[in-house]
Amino acid sequence: MTHEVKTTCPYCGVGCGVIARVTDAGDVSVSGDPDHPANFGRLCSKGSALAETLGLEGRALDPIVQGKTTTWDEALDLVAGRFQETIAEYGPDSVAFYLSGQLLTEDYYVANKLMKGFIGSANIDTNSRLCMASSVAGHRRAFGSDTVPGTYEDLELADLVVLVGSNMGWCHPVLYQRLAAAKAKRPGMKVVVIDPRRTATSDLADLHLSIAPDGDVALFNELLLSLMEQRKLDEGYILGNTEGFEEAVAAARRMGLAHAAATGLSHEERQAFFRLFGQTEKVVTCYSQGVNQSSIGTDKVNAIINCHLATGRIGRPGMGPFSLTGQPNAMGGREVGGLANMLAAHMVIENPTHRERVKRFWNAPAMAEKPGLKAVDMFEAVADGRIKALWIMSTNPVVSMPDADRVKAAIEACPFVVVSDMQADTDTARLAHVLLPASGWGEKSGTVTNSERRISRQRPFLTPPGTARPDWWHMAQVAQRMGFSGFDYTSPAEIFAEHAALSGFENDGERDFDISAHAGIDQADYEALSPFQWPQRHGQSRTTTRFFAKGSFYHADRKARFIALETAPPCRTDKAFPLVLNTGRVRDHWHTMTRTGKSARLSAHLAEPFVEIHPRDAAGLGIAEADLVQVESAHGGAVIVRALLTDRQKPGRLFIPMHWTGETAARARIDSLVPAVTDALSGQPALKHVPVKARRY
Ligand code: SF4
Repeated sequence: MTHEVKTTCPYCGVGCGVIARVTDAGDVSVSGDPDHPANFGRLCSKGSALAETLGLEGRALDPIVQGKTTTWDEALDLVAGRFQETIAEYGPDSVAFYLSGQLLTEDYYVANKLMKGFIGSANIDTNSRLCMASSVAGHRRAFGSDTVPGTYEDLELADLVVLVGSNMGWCHPVLYQRLAAAKAKRPGMKVVVIDPRRTATSDLADLHLSIAPDGDVALFNELLLSLMEQRKLDEGYILGNTEGFEEAVAAARRMGLAHAAATGLSHEERQAFFRLFGQTEKVVTCYSQGVNQSSIGTDKVNAIINCHLATGRIGRPGMGPFSLTGQPNAMGGREVGGLANMLAAHMVIENPTHRERVKRFWNAPAMAEKPGLKAVDMFEAVADGRIKALWIMSTNPVVSMPDADRVKAAIEACPFVVVSDMQADTDTARLAHVLLPASGWGEKSGTVTNSERRISRQRPFLTPPGTARPDWWHMAQVAQRMGFSGFDYTSPAEIFAEHAALSGFENDGERDFDISAHAGIDQADYEALSPFQWPQRHGQSRTTTRFFAKGSFYHADRKARFIALETAPPCRTDKAFPLVLNTGRVRDHWHTMTRTGKSARLSAHLAEPFVEIHPRDAAGLGIAEADLVQVESAHGGAVIVRALLTDRQKPGRLFIPMHWTGETAARARIDSLVPAVTDALSGQPALKHVPVKARRY
């Protein structure tokens, strides 16, 4: 006998539906869910190899305190006690949670409630800060809310899809498959890829613009001016629904053509793009980490949004700016407010009415009153001793944070570190005073939200090994042991019901995020919940698929804001460190490989860490194909990786993937090279613009 369970892939933000089939003998196979509206049965290489990653090697099976296996009661009492003592002695801002876009919404909800409503600090941030914080900040500046206006279907309906800083072919593969299929069906559809690298995604492009690192604001500012010249503005939309157009144009003019040269693109290349954009009504501009992971990431997001507002191409079928989220549940984390500068249900922590509303809803004794520390600042506070108790869940900051060596040293020196993780031996778990075993994909129950605002269930089909338990349970147990009421959840369904109720609480349309149609959902309906896009407001039978076609933004005057931008690309290289290092993903691995590394098939795609280097640079440095190369940054630190000579990379630029860690023949913990430079608004680190030098090892 075989039984089938419908669930959702745990990797990227596409959020594909997966059918897991489990035999009586316990063998698992997976296939794409033909009924899921994100993927309609498709899976990429990572998703289709999920069954190969379910082995128990390396799993955390029982709580461990100071290296010794113990009981849950002892571990939880210790965590609650140490957090209470620390808060009593040093105040609520002396503790912090560092979460993950891998967590389910229910986990995130409980963590956010505990920290912001009961401990009384907003020191809760997440690796989503590294993924899409600039998009959040850009959305909020332009729209007054963190709203993704469109849907995946828009990519298929568009006549022009512009992909900015996105290797969609490898990082959002099923969405890329949908786009490629739509283009095959309608060959007149055009695709423009704007990316310093010529990636696998560029193979689909009618036009690839190998933009200079961080040249995007200059390019989209010039596009705004070109749209005026081409008489492609939607003046009615601008007049009725926006503010700040004249200032944005004036800033673009001031920025001038001098900066256009900083795009690294020829006049002809830029004009070809501007004509295509101007002459095509149905345009979707997708952007991802190449835009977000930058010291000017928020401005890049707004430069793109400016052009869509100016043409009124937003919220209509086949039109709009579209943020592609990296992680499976970065969106769900945003919805519960799981970032240091957010509240809950898309409310704003700086807004006293919102704080008071959430306080009443939670019956919270100690609402946080100000934003907490964003990821980079949080680890800085760990390093200088301001944070004395840290709980890390489902992420590996020793590898993934910029300034990774300093982050590692900070965690090592922190007086009390708790790690909740599936794996017992990650670079971060090794440093924990208390390791709490977490159940993982296939064992957990909850929800995730994908890049198009679609909420889907993750359903269990395996028994967790040892005594592993879900992350929400870890936190609810600690909260109860700290004496807090309101955490006696017995299932994720109860948490989701409360989250849905909060989304509609005193929400008369003032807030975009509203799933109150599911407030009070019972266990049976939660089990049966089909994928749905928000909003789904209580009492409304019709759902809104897209936002902003007719304006109605979420600033107080319901108008969008153009943002005046004069942000020049930063120049960080010098004679000593003349090369710009870009970091990113490969097709078949995920983050620090704790799951994908278990699949021999996935590991065979690219077997070891490498540096992409242009043959001309390689020749100048005496580097031959497959040589070991030492790459050092001005910031300090060095990695050793294999040379991959390719003209997909422009001279002066390098690329190294982010996944590998450890001290093998190749040492590739690349975030040790990356300085903690962040976007001033979003706090997102600049992971794609690191000055380095390279030599044959
Ligand atoms: Fe999973 Fe993303 Fe691949 Fe879909 S595209 S199967 S969500 S990794």
